Amino acid sequence: MRVAAMVLWSCVAVPAQGSTVPGKPFAIRVHFQDDAIAQHAAELAAATWAFGKTALRLDPATVDRSKFEVHIYRDAKAYHAAGERLRSVHHRDAPGFADFKSKSAHFLLEEALDEPGLPEHAQRLLVHECMHLATYAGNPGSAFLPEWYIEGLALWTEGEVLRQRLALAAVDDDPYEQRYNQHAQKAIAAGEFPTLRQIMAQDLKGVTRRQRYVVYRQLLRFLHGRGDLAARLWGASNIAWGPAVVERLRDLVAAETNGGLDALDEELRAFVGKRAVPAPQPAVPVPVADAQGQPGQPGFLPGSPQVRWVGTHGRRELEFSASVTLRGQVPQADLAFERGGERWLRVTIHGGDGIHVSERQPDGAWRELGVHLAAAEVVADKPIQIRVLARAGKLEVELAKKRVLAIPIAGLDLQCRWGLGGPIGSRARWSDVRVK
Ligand SMILES: [Zn+2]
Repeated sequence: MRVAAMVLWSCVAVPAQGSTVPGKPFAIRVHFQDDAIAQHAAELAAATWAFGKTALRLDPATVDRSKFEVHIYRDAKAYHAAGERLRSVHHRDAPGFADFKSKSAHFLLEEALDEPGLPEHAQRLLVHECMHLATYAGNPGSAFLPEWYIEGLALWTEGEVLRQRLALAAVDDDPYEQRYNQHAQKAIAAGEFPTLRQIMAQDLKGVTRRQRYVVYRQLLRFLHGRGDLAARLWGASNIAWGPAVVERLRDLVAAETNGGLDALDEELRAFVGKRAVPAPQPAVPVPVADAQGQPGQPGFLPGSPQVRWVGTHGRRELEFSASVTLRGQVPQADLAFERGGERWLRVTIHGGDGIHVSERQPDGAWRELGVHLAAAEVVADKPIQIRVLARAGKLEVELAKKRVLAIPIAGLDLQCRWGLGGPIGSRARWSDVRVK
């Protein structure tokens, strides 16, 4: 299917206007000159379509008549203008959105384009939004579908299409999926993974969008594994329209076992518990407190070649801001600063994941104090604006000028000597570094 589509679609370059791939159901319009990106987007859209038809048994007669447009921008102004014009609520804080009325999806590429084609994160996003368009087309009542199902479908498709593209035997071989499995396992351990009753009733107050998506990503894959339930739900959702569809889906899921939703909860948790998580990284070399360094005299912490020692500070509060661009095989960068003695605080910026704050214990182990998941914002090859404030018993982290973490550190004797670094294999460019 994909091969046939690729033969039929030829890449037409439009000088000064951009690159396009005319096609059905997805026509690609890249708003700058890049034929490789246009071709890549066309292949991903076709693969998404093929997956939807096989996995969900979308009705080909209905959906193949559809016509969608995929717009890719390099210019943030043009992207946000499209978002405003289509009254999207998502464009302000996300680099992609799908619009049902105009049957179009729009994407902003801010990453460095070092390799031909779309960066990996943009590939996932494109598949996700194209699946939303496919579900809109396949079910005229899709506006009534519950969030857990409609987002779960898109997240599930993302994983499957990328697995095909990366030629992986199993989706759990994908490091990106592994990180989400880890988040889900942590949520279960912390008692923060909602029950199926809560999910099906859409009773998820206080659960952030990022956390909800961690759950939905697991749920759809779990339902698919139970005798193709994800696809059976699709069939049922096309029959019942209006708010009744929410109850209908819930009843179908509950009917899967004799014990109803509660019994299924146990199975879902067991399923998540068995999934692959990232192999433990070699421990980040621990910065030591007796390191020498002067502001403006870069050096390295003894015993820790990966942490670049930028300066000593000595004040009891730290205000640090910078723009950091992650590169290398391990997209991670760390800001480590001293709280006195051999104890350290560390702010880790982890690509495709988010921001972690941890504290080094006297025995050398690092304990996590807080996490902000931001897999869409914190990605490699894209400048990340970060600001860290440590004072008055509180550590605050701002991402793109928005406060994302506030962690009590009362009673700590801050000295605020600081260093920048990351684990082996990581590279990061720090610019506009300001320390007060
Ligand atoms: Zn979505």
